[in-house]
Amino acid sequence: MKLYYDKDADLDVLKGKTVAIIGYGSQGHAHALNLSESGIDVVVGLNAGNPDRQKAEAAGLTVLMNDAAAKKADIIMILVPDQIQPVVYEKDILPHLRAGVVLAFAHGFNIHYNQIVPPADIDVIMVAPKGPGHLVRRQYQAGSGVPSLIAIHQNPSGRAKEIALAYAKGIGATRAGVIETTYREETETDLFGEQAVLCGGITELIRAGFNTLVEAGYQPEMAYFECLHEVKLIVDLIYEGGLGGMYYSVSDTAEYGGLVKGPVVIGDEVKNAMKKLLHDIQNGTFATEWILENRANGPTFNAYRRLLREDKIEKIGAELRSMMSWLKK
Ligand code: NAD
Ligand code: MG
Repeated sequence: MKLYYDKDADLDVLKGKTVAIIGYGSQGHAHALNLSESGIDVVVGLNAGNPDRQKAEAAGLTVLMNDAAAKKADIIMILVPDQIQPVVYEKDILPHLRAGVVLAFAHGFNIHYNQIVPPADIDVIMVAPKGPGHLVRRQYQAGSGVPSLIAIHQNPSGRAKEIALAYAKGIGATRAGVIETTYREETETDLFGEQAVLCGGITELIRAGFNTLVEAGYQPEMAYFECLHEVKLIVDLIYEGGLGGMYYSVSDTAEYGGLVKGPVVIGDEVKNAMKKLLHDIQNGTFATEWILENRANGPTFNAYRRLLREDKIEKIGAELRSMMSWLKK
């Protein structure tokens, strides 16, 4: 694996060019402010009535309507929510694309699954920080950066990679290290990670543990502390020192129980389910499901959100967290 650092990237590649950041949320504000402070001409694209306009203007940035920003720009980074991107692209960006313009994304979903199909004479790059925008901004201000990915989807100019690296330098990413990937790899691993482990796997593991204890007659408050609250403690240790670092810090009883009994819980059934998830990501089944769900105004999505709000673990959790003065509202 090749890593790129500051010395591998040249900010001068972006000299005399204008970067349009469409959207000013988590990623958008960080990219716009970091690039601007790196000496690059930035305009922010937000349509009239968007509440983020005031924030961007207050930060001293030039804010234009989406289409005006796209028209002015040499590099257009699309940082609106992934489900909205195809509409914004068709309406506000495509009409202003001309040969030589670079289209950029921070996630590969719409390009990889053909929801956006740019003209062949447009460079298409990805610069994707591996962290939320607020960390991207904070690390930049502290003189550091967040490790990031770059990928090239189309490269008619032959310069797509140096542009992606220059952009990565402008947001501070090359201070930490940049890895080259592909749209396919970024999209499929991102979806798999969030479904199988980060957002799906962990939450269901927590819920299953909580329900097992409660159904066996233990107090739900005890189940909440053991199966949810203490997750942070363990994850912080894993984050800092890997799995071994975590096991070093817990008791021998916890280490033995974890090493020997963990594989009993996450056995073949779970591993086969993970393979099925990955397969559905690779063959587009999940993408189709998610795209159609959005077209239908999210009936399943809304129902699952409601079911979670009504779940016992959420009710108990809200009560217990109100006892924890250090948790901000
Ligand atoms: P976000 O929801 O935080 O912000 C979206 C922004 O788009 C907001 O400013 C919103 O007002 C604006 N917006 C909504 N509709 C718009 C429209 N029609 N025209 C212009 N602006 C509009 O989104 P985010 O989390 O910053 O995600 C942006 C992209 O970055 C996505 O592709 C996402 O996958 C990617 N990404 C996010 C993270 C993360 O941690 N949040 C990390 C890496 C990559
Ligand atoms: Mg991710």
